[in-house]
Amino acid sequence: MTSTATAKSKTRKSEVTRYRMYIDGKFVDAASGKTFDVYDPATEGVIATCPAGGAADIDRAAQAATRAFHDGWRSVTAQERGRILFRLAELETLNSGKPIVESEYDMDDTATCFEYYGGLATKINGEVLPVPAEAVALAMREPIGVAGQIIPWNYPLMMAAWKIAPALAAGCTVVLKPAEQTPLSILKLAEDFEAIGLPPGVVNIVTGDGPGAGAPLVAHPKVRKVAFTGSAEVGKTIMRTAADQLKRVSLELGGKSPNIFFSDADFENAVDGALFGTFINQGEVCSAGSRVLVQKDIYKKFVDAAAAKAKTIRLGPGVDRETKMGPLVSAEQRDRVAGYLKTGRGEAKVAVGGGTPKQFDKGWYVEPTIFYDVDNGAKIAQEEIFGPVMSVIPFKDEADAIRIANESPYGLAAAVWTRDIFKAFRVVKSLEAGIVWVNHMQPTFVEAPWGGYKMSGFGRELGHWGVEEYLETKQVFINLDEKPIGWY
Ligand code: NDP
Repeated sequence: MTSTATAKSKTRKSEVTRYRMYIDGKFVDAASGKTFDVYDPATEGVIATCPAGGAADIDRAAQAATRAFHDGWRSVTAQERGRILFRLAELETLNSGKPIVESEYDMDDTATCFEYYGGLATKINGEVLPVPAEAVALAMREPIGVAGQIIPWNYPLMMAAWKIAPALAAGCTVVLKPAEQTPLSILKLAEDFEAIGLPPGVVNIVTGDGPGAGAPLVAHPKVRKVAFTGSAEVGKTIMRTAADQLKRVSLELGGKSPNIFFSDADFENAVDGALFGTFINQGEVCSAGSRVLVQKDIYKKFVDAAAAKAKTIRLGPGVDRETKMGPLVSAEQRDRVAGYLKTGRGEAKVAVGGGTPKQFDKGWYVEPTIFYDVDNGAKIAQEEIFGPVMSVIPFKDEADAIRIANESPYGLAAAVWTRDIFKAFRVVKSLEAGIVWVNHMQPTFVEAPWGGYKMSGFGRELGHWGVEEYLETKQVFINLDEKPIGWY
C-alpha cells in the first residue's frame, strides 16, 4: 500500500486525525490545501480534519476515473469485478453519532451489498431479439462510464456501498462525494482498495461540501451519470445542472412516510412498530414513518401507550451499548429539528418530549417527541423533519386512511398494520409509495428495489434495478443476407 487515509496532525490536539481524500489510487490533500473539521456529535469536539475538495480536485478525480474506465476497468471480466466486490464485502469499519448496535447492523448490510453485487456482476446479460431469419439483432448492455455519486450523512458507509457496488458490478468507474459531516468510514475503507485489487482511478473519494465539491461533480463533462441521495431541494438543483448536458440522474430524496394502524392490528406490535418506524437512527432516516395514522377506536389508547414507551428510550452517546437513541449529526440539524418542535407545539398537542433534553452538558440531543391530534395539513405532517419526531393523526376508516396517506408531496415508503389480508392488499395497492411494508416498518433487503414516487425522486437502488441505473443498452444488427442492400 502506498499511502493511507490518515495522518496525525502536528498542528492540532493529538486526538484530531488528519484524513486525506482518495484520488487515482493515492491519498492526497485538496489542491487548495484547505481542510474542514469533522465532529463527534456526542461531545461536540473535533475528531478529524478532511481536505476541502473543490473543482480542481473533482477534475483530477473525474479524469482519473475516465482513464481507469477506458484503460482497463470496462474490460475487466465480470468474474474479476465480482471477486473484487466480494473482497470489499469482507472489509468493515465505522463515524455518525448513531448507537453502536445500529452501526453493527449497518456494517452487516454494507458487506451484504458488496456481496450481492459481487454475484450479480456475472449475471448482466444482453438479449437476442426475434428479428427476421436473414439477420441477427442483439441488445447489448454496456457500462455508462464515469458515475458521480453524492451521499448523505445518515448511513455513511451503507449509502456508499449502495452506490459503489452496483456501479462497479456494471463496469462503471466512480467519483464519490461523501457528506462533509461523515466522510471518515469510506476513507478508511479506501485504505484497502489497492490491496483487494481495485485498480487506481476506479473508485475516487473526494471530500468537501456540496457547493464546493458536489456541484462541480454534477457539472463535470466526463461524468456521465449522477446518483444522489439527500434533500429534495438539492435534488432539484442537481437535475437542473444535469439538464445542461442531458446527463442521466437518479434521485433518492426522502419523504414523510405514513405508518397506518388499523384497530384490528396486534396492539403491542403496532405501538412498537410506530416507535421503531419513527425513532430508529434518531429519526434521521429517509423512510422514517413519522406520519402515524391511527384508527379512531384505538387512537387514545395508542397515543398513551406510545408516549409511555417513548419515555423509556435511553438517550446517550452512540458508543455506549445501552444507548437506544444517540445525538443528531450536527448542531445545524439539532437546531433545524428544534425549529420544527417549536412549530409543532403551536400546531398540535404534545404527548411526550417536545424539546432538547436537560441531562447532557454536551451533544446535539433531541427528545423523542410525539405530537398528537395533528392535522395532515400541518407543517409537522407535511415536511421532512429528519429527527425523532412523530406526528399522530386520527382516521375514521380505510378510505380516510388512504386519502390522508396519499396527501403528501412525497412517496418513498409506507406501512400498513392489520390482521385482515384483504384490507392490507387493498391499501397496499392504493398507496403512492415506492416501498410498502405490511405489519412491519423499515426492513431493507439488498435484493429488493429502493426508491420513491412523487417528490421522493426516481430511479431505483438495490436489486437488479440498482445495476440498471449504470447500464446503457446498445442495439446491434448483423445482416446475414448476401443480396444487394437497398434500392440504389
Ligand atoms: P443535503 O441534501 O444538503 O445533502 C446531501 C448531500 O448533497 C451531501 O453530500 C451534500 O454535501 C450534498 N450537496 C449539498 N448541496 C449540493 C449541491 N449544490 N450540489 C451537489 N451536492 C450538494 O442534505 P442536508 O445534509 O443539508 O440535510 C438537510 C435535510 O435534507 C435533512 O434534514 C433531511 O430532511 C434531508 N435529507 C434527506 C436524506 C435522505 O436520505 N433522503 C439524507 C440527508 C438529508 P454537504 O452536506 O457536504 O455540503
